[in-house]
Amino acid sequence: MGSPSYWREKVYRYRLIAKYCENCNKKYYPPKLACPICGNKELKEVQLPRIGTLITYTWVTQPTKDFATQAPYVVGLIKLDDGTLIVSQLTDVEIEELKDGIRVEAVFRRMFEEGDSGLIYYGTKFRPCLFSK
Ligand SMILES: [Zn+2]
Repeated sequence: MGSPSYWREKVYRYRLIAKYCENCNKKYYPPKLACPICGNKELKEVQLPRIGTLITYTWVTQPTKDFATQAPYVVGLIKLDDGTLIVSQLTDVEIEELKDGIRVEAVFRRMFEEGDSGLIYYGTKFRPCLFSK
């Protein structure tokens, strides 16, 4: 996640906005400029639901440099309630709570700090739903 693409995608990461191809009835997140199936460049912006189900997850103990201070952390494959699959870091989660099939919700969280500049990046993470949904 280099800085230029981070800033370009910031609004999407924060608001969970996907691009939707009407021809293929498919949503892409992170958003794509064109549909990889039909080549359609007239993709529509759609808001993704902020609630979903954890399909599977993995503990990351050897992260890239940017995420080193957060290790170990959990990355989950999440099926949002509209069927869109996304990969996201999980937060506010205890190892005992983690199991496939739990309900999760999007929250806005600090992602990582950039080396020397101390610049802090934010983005969307998911946590177990505080209330059953
Ligand atoms: Zn398409």
